[in-house]
Amino acid sequence: CGIFAYLNFNISRERRYILEVLFNGLRRLEYRGYDSAGVSIDSSLCSSNAGVAPPSLVFRQEGNIESLVKSVYQDVAATDLNLQESFLTHAGIAHTRWATHGEPAPRNSHPQSSDAGNEFLVVHNGVITNYKVLKESLVRHGFTFESDTDTEVIPKLAKFVFDNANEEGDRRVTFSQVVLEVMRHLEGAYALIFKSRHYPNELIACKRGSPLLLGVKELTEEDNRASFNDSKFLSSNVEAKELFLSSDPSALVEHTKKVLVIEDGEVVHLKDGGVSIFKFDHAKGKGGETLIRPAS
Ligand code: GLU
Repeated sequence: CGIFAYLNFNISRERRYILEVLFNGLRRLEYRGYDSAGVSIDSSLCSSNAGVAPPSLVFRQEGNIESLVKSVYQDVAATDLNLQESFLTHAGIAHTRWATHGEPAPRNSHPQSSDAGNEFLVVHNGVITNYKVLKESLVRHGFTFESDTDTEVIPKLAKFVFDNANEEGDRRVTFSQVVLEVMRHLEGAYALIFKSRHYPNELIACKRGSPLLLGVKELTEEDNRASFNDSKFLSSNVEAKELFLSSDPSALVEHTKKVLVIEDGEVVHLKDGGVSIFKFDHAKGKGGETLIRPAS
């Protein structure tokens, strides 16, 4: 029912801060109604050039946001996960679910995952009407499903596309190419946010029939300086940014006035502090044309 994402770029944020931004985003979406909630964050620092990052952490809970918050902090306390660990860049996603397919339960909550290693994670608003056909064909290709949702076909399709592209080609497929290919197969209504271990610190969002907004907060050098204890990171040309994705403006207004309404068929790629927007032409069943609409 609601989706939210937060990506910090060139500004150091602790794990606790990242979690709190995600939880607050979900609290702003609460008024729309929901039956479960979930978030995903990184387990440890991952650099963009490092290839595959460690599996992302996924927390999902039936019931209200506060019970998700409580269970996340309980889980964190039970492990050696450090809430003070800080990330210069990090991509986090969050979801409130209003079940359409599959009862409210943690395994049906989002993020939904491609596999046990969480290679691709997806939060989804809407309904995928052709999910049964996609599910059957993914099962034939060896995928096993954990949930009763229509959503689970999406991350699995992304993994399928990614694995096949990498077998065929010598050039690594980009995150947006994966998502454009996934969109080609989806029928129904959706706003989606993808997070992947193969593309650390990147996020992709796309939509068709469900609302999606992008918020951009450019941070001043002062904000930047204030957040770094270690001055060696300081440079006058360091551009620091916080990027937000949300299904509802109410989760963005407290962060920024720079909000861009994403249109049907658009694919938003957040990478290295930049925003690229691609257009998917559903009638032609293809995409790739770069729009790059500057957020203003
Ligand atoms: N159809 C999806 C599900 O049932 C998403 C529902 C929603 O928009 O929250 O899991």
